[in-house]
Formats: sequence, structure tokens, C-alpha cells
Amino acid sequence: MYLFGLRLSMAYTKDTISNAAQSVRDYLIQKNVISTEPPYLTLNSTSEAGNVSCPVVEALGGRLNVISPWEANWGDGIIKILPKGQGHSFEILLPTSTSPKRDVFTVSHELGHLFLHFEYPSETGKWKEFSEGDGFEFKDSVMFRSGVNSSEYEANEFAASFLMPKQKFDEVVTVEEISKNGFDGIADRFGVSFDAVKTRGAFLGNWNW
Ligand SMILES: [Zn+2]
Repeated sequence: MYLFGLRLSMAYTKDTISNAAQSVRDYLIQKNVISTEPPYLTLNSTSEAGNVSCPVVEALGGRLNVISPWEANWGDGIIKILPKGQGHSFEILLPTSTSPKRDVFTVSHELGHLFLHFEYPSETGKWKEFSEGDGFEFKDSVMFRSGVNSSEYEANEFAASFLMPKQKFDEVVTVEEISKNGFDGIADRFGVSFDAVKTRGAFLGNWNW
């Protein structure tokens, strides 16, 4: 069942989401946009409004813009499906108020919605419906992101899996590495926040909550 483009039932398993994230990473590696080593998504400064270069988003057919927090409706991010013929298929908007490391997770989270819930880049289903109409705008917020519904949980799982794939995470996150560089060092390696690393490790069972 869909509501405003978001699927309400839990249908994706963690494995399916992890495979989807890997397919996207493989595509980007093949296109020489990223390498097999992290970080898999990097952003320049997102503290000023305007277009921001993000090779990952661009290689996938989208564009990234930074807007004021009030334009962003005080949310974390917005994803827009653009109507056909606009040069880009989708747009991700970030507020100026959030840190680049948080923004990296937000962009990946929005990509999760794009692939899992808007069925990009399929020429059928939801994507076709939205892109052939007037487009579609989905405003994401901290409230949504806290995992109150399965779509948000799934988008978070996609983001974590895309940025910190289990195999690479286990390879990088060793007792030795933690004692040498700490969680901050690991966070830098993956280009994400300290909290994102701690949450990912807890979800994967590397350590307790
Ligand atoms: Zn979301």
C-alpha cells in the first residue's frame, strides 16, 4: 500500500536493502565516480545556499541544492521527483543549518527513498506516474527519520548500508583500529558522523547499544 508515494507495509528485508545499496555502489564504481574504498559519498560545504556539487547524485541523474532552513520547512532534507524534460530526474534539497556529515547521511537516506519507494529509475510504477505528471515533492524530517514508519526505517537502512557496507565495516572496525584512531577516526574514514558509526555497529552486532 502506498500513501503519498511511501509504502506503508514492511516488505524489504535487510538483505534486499543491502543488495540494492551494493548495486548502486557497483554502478558508481563502474562509472569511476567512487572507488571500492570509503568514503562512498562526500560533500563540499553545505553552509551556503545554492547548488552543491555531488558526483554521486549527478551520476545518478540528479542534482543537489542547499536552501535556507525555513525553505526546507525545518526538515532535514527534501527529495523532489522532477517532471520529465528538466535535465535532471530528481533533486535533493538540504538546509544550510545541518552539518556536512549529517548531510551525507541525509543525501543517502533520500537516495534510499528514491530507489526503494519511488522505484527509480523504472519506467513503470510510481516513478513513471510521478515523473510524467507534475513531479512529486517529499519533505523529510527528523520526526519521520526517527523510524516511526517502515519507509523511514528502510531509507535509513539503505543509507547506512550504502555508506558503511557490512563487509567493509567489519574490515575497518577492528579493536586495534578503535584503540588507535577511535570512533572519530572510523567516522572520518567512512565520511559520516560519530553517531552514524556507533548506530551502524550496534545494528550489525559489532558492539552493544
Ligand atoms: Zn525519509
